[in-house]
Amino acid sequence: MNRSAMKVQTNQTFERPRQRMVSDQLIARGICDAKVIEAMSSIPRHLFVDAAQAARAYNDSALPIGCSQTISQPYMVARMTELLELKGGERVLEIGTGCGYQSAVLSRICLRVYSIERIEALHHRARQNLRAARHANVMLKCGDGLLGWEEYAPYDAIIVTAGGFASDVWLQQLKVGGLLLLPEADGSHHRLVRRRNLGQTYEQEYFDTCNFVPLLEGVNHY
Ligand code: SAH
Repeated sequence: MNRSAMKVQTNQTFERPRQRMVSDQLIARGICDAKVIEAMSSIPRHLFVDAAQAARAYNDSALPIGCSQTISQPYMVARMTELLELKGGERVLEIGTGCGYQSAVLSRICLRVYSIERIEALHHRARQNLRAARHANVMLKCGDGLLGWEEYAPYDAIIVTAGGFASDVWLQQLKVGGLLLLPEADGSHHRLVRRRNLGQTYEQEYFDTCNFVPLLEGVNHY
């Protein structure tokens, strides 16, 4: 490939594939929250994956982001964001920053996003990605998300983007009336579960079956 062809490729905005992703993968499958649709129509998802994967960034699938982790399938990002029922003024905690794409989508909709990643290399990459995409209302931390992030609690919503079992700490760090959403282990798969904190107890609803990378304990200094 000659130099000018390379330049065209790296400057590509992927506007068409992004709009096709929104219409064919999100709207056609029932995503109807206008804030979610607007966010995913405008955020350059290809900037959150390695340059070699950029052309696949708008495909209907999860993609590798290094360290054996993945960026979630676009539909799953939209579905999970929609299930948080965000109105705009919320402070949201995310467990599992990965490449930062879900954080970027949330940050476009709510007031502030706090996101924790246990793999140090991914935490640093997410910081670069979010800076490049100019998302200033996201605070990142490298740590074990199973412990939550006490300093800024309570949160209006907590979203977990790795699959496993809920940590008791999450409900404790949620406002009364707030929502916790996670892919809960269910046999060989996961199932989206949403819990609303009712104070002494919680209300629980189940949604889609899905597959996520595992929620693991501790920090990994890769
Ligand atoms: N939201 C991400 C999805 C990344 S995959 C995105 O948009 O790209 C899930 C991430 O959760 C992985 O990066 C994994 O390392 C992280 N993870 C798993 N267990 C964790 C824990 N206990 N605390 C913080 N992050 C965790």
